[in-house]
Amino acid sequence: MRYLIEEEKKEALYYINKAKNIAKKSNCLKSKSSAVIVRNKNIIGIGYNSPPNDKALLECIKDKLPTNFKSDKTCCVHAEQRAILDALRGEKDLKNSRLYYIRLDLNNNIIKSGNPYCTICSKLSLDSGISEFVLYKKEGIALYDTYEYNDLSFKYIP
Ligand SMILES: [Zn+2]
Ligand SMILES: [Zn+2]
Repeated sequence: MRYLIEEEKKEALYYINKAKNIAKKSNCLKSKSSAVIVRNKNIIGIGYNSPPNDKALLECIKDKLPTNFKSDKTCCVHAEQRAILDALRGEKDLKNSRLYYIRLDLNNNIIKSGNPYCTICSKLSLDSGISEFVLYKKEGIALYDTYEYNDLSFKYIP
């Protein structure tokens, strides 16, 4: 992982700003996030988290699940999954692309990310060929190789 500086940081902020507007569309009751996939400076996929088919929910499923529920507890399709699906509608593979991920609070301000933890998205990103993953952390804009991102997600300790 390395933090982006100067021109690279400027470029990243451009896509992060795009992602911010996309995340506003989320109708999740818990959090709003988005992902933008970029290759050769072109946006090839976008996504925001929302329940499947964008169906608005009146209450979050997460709160009603038993504590020993085994699988992913979120009611939503993750933003990264959506962006990957979106990109693959137009592209054969996602090699040499970079995924930018952000999360917003309820006032649409960016919540700085912690360390990678979602193994669902890290595996899917790796499998679809995305080569780099960007998180907006409080220390700066962090660029990960997707292999590293997946490794770190499996090593995450809350
Ligand atoms: Zn949700
Ligand atoms: Zn995820």
